Amino acid sequence: MFSSNGDRAILDREPRFDDITSSLKSVSKMPKAAFRETAQVIATARRFNEEVVRPRALELDRLKHEDPDYLPWDMVEEANRRGFYTMFIPKLFGGHGLNMPSLSCFMEEVASGCTGIANLIGVHYLGVATLCASWNLRVMNRVMRDTAEGERNGKPCLISLAITEPGAGTDVEELELVGKAKVTCHAERVPGGYRLNGNKIFISNGHLSTWHMTIAYTDLDDPANTTVMLAVRNGMEGFSFGRQEHKMGQKACPASELIFEDCFVPDDLVCFDALQAARHTRSMQAVTMQVIDYVLSGSRAGVGSFGTGVARGAYEEALRFASQAEVGGKLLINHEWAQCVLAEMYKNVALARLSYVETNYANGLYGLFKVLHYKPLFYLMKYLPQQFVDAVVQPFLNMDFVTWLFRKIYFDWQREDEYQRTSGWASLSKFSATDAGVRNCQLALELMGGAGVRTDQVAEKHLRDSKLLQIYEGTNQLNRLNLFKCLIGRSVPAAKVFED
Ligand SMILES: Cc1cc2nc3c(=O)[nH]c(=O)nc-3n(C[C@H](O)[C@H](O)[C@H](O)COP(=O)(O)OP(=O)(O)OC[C@H]3O[C@@H](n4cnc5c(N)ncnc54)[C@H](O)[C@@H]3O)c2cc1C
Repeated sequence: MFSSNGDRAILDREPRFDDITSSLKSVSKMPKAAFRETAQVIATARRFNEEVVRPRALELDRLKHEDPDYLPWDMVEEANRRGFYTMFIPKLFGGHGLNMPSLSCFMEEVASGCTGIANLIGVHYLGVATLCASWNLRVMNRVMRDTAEGERNGKPCLISLAITEPGAGTDVEELELVGKAKVTCHAERVPGGYRLNGNKIFISNGHLSTWHMTIAYTDLDDPANTTVMLAVRNGMEGFSFGRQEHKMGQKACPASELIFEDCFVPDDLVCFDALQAARHTRSMQAVTMQVIDYVLSGSRAGVGSFGTGVARGAYEEALRFASQAEVGGKLLINHEWAQCVLAEMYKNVALARLSYVETNYANGLYGLFKVLHYKPLFYLMKYLPQQFVDAVVQPFLNMDFVTWLFRKIYFDWQREDEYQRTSGWASLSKFSATDAGVRNCQLALELMGGAGVRTDQVAEKHLRDSKLLQIYEGTNQLNRLNLFKCLIGRSVPAAKVFED
């Protein structure tokens, strides 16, 4: 019960349900062709699953277990041959330009077969999203066209994202915490560019990528106000790979150490820094916050789709087993308790899926995808011939004015409540779908008994894979705090988040 006017005032500030549920507003605004595209994307992923992922998931897991330095180049080449690394890159930058929300559907499908192989493809788009969130169109054009060229000549050109450092994980993914982070990756301003020193760890696809979107700081005592994003390419002097992590799951996707020793990054590969922020937008800190927010709001929905995928993979294994195994003289599936477990698992998949779909609607209305979903632009880009885009539109991307315009749209004209909504929903999807993934894997093993723990069955691999999802893209604890901050705490002035 609300006993005082003060309590009522809090309720009045609370956003109404229809204010925060983006699908109600968004479905009618989405281009219809995007829905058809999504159906095609799902069919493509299913084919890949049947032909490649399911037959090879256990083999890749075993190969990496036996040789920690193993790199699944053949799988990367197969994905490259099928166009998976450019499928969701906008046509403007040489890609196939399929709508971004369908990437999550693609990922759910592949993750239902193997989360490691899903990450081998999906984390490339984390690099792409980070590059795009800088809205430096010149660097975006250069790097993504490299990926498109890599598809044409059969030499995969992947993009990784390097934020995490040995002493800084959770805190460098949250602006309120970045100020206190113990960062060591230093970018020193020198004539013509930056000199980079330091280490990054746990970088997914590091050893397999050609470009690395690297976050560093010009003042290690003030990281929040001095963040720079640099595009580092393999072969640059002073850049090398260190060890690969030996991790419990998602073994198909390496987690690498990147080492920078006096690595010079020229100005034309600086995605953003304080100088550019001052020229194009309000403040460095505001830009950093929005870049982090745009990236994580997209990528956390993506991890939500991985969680949904692994939840589904576990459900499908459990269903298959229950339909074949006999217990107490009848099929397991005809025991009521088994039916209840399967109903619970089905519910976990369905709700996890709804959470990432809803987050993608928010991203389409207010987040990283909003320009791409603007109907006239969507159809223009869909039907303009690629040769025309390359010959006529592409040269504009190198003009300073175009970068300025996009930064105005994305940084200065973005309202705070809009990015809080996308960020809050992305966290909701990330922790609820990945928790559902782990839960379904546990339920599958309970239902399957001894058969579930055999290493020649995929159920135990799903459980090992699913655990990692609760950690990357911000731990699930951190994401719960972010949901509180964005969707609950903002209407309660007395609430303090991330203050300790
Ligand atoms: C398989 C895998 C792939 C990865 N891929 C990448 C990648 O491609 N690129 C990249 O940059 N990074 C990557 N990471 C790193 C990942 O983002 C970090 O591991 C993650 O952010 C957690 O950081 P940490 O491991 O340092 O844990 P810590 O930050 O040390 O957290 C330890 C514990 O403390 C809790 N905690 C920390 N701070 C707070 C707080 N303020 N309030 C409450 N609780 C808190 C956490 O929830 C956690 O329980 C990857 C990690 C893994 C496991």
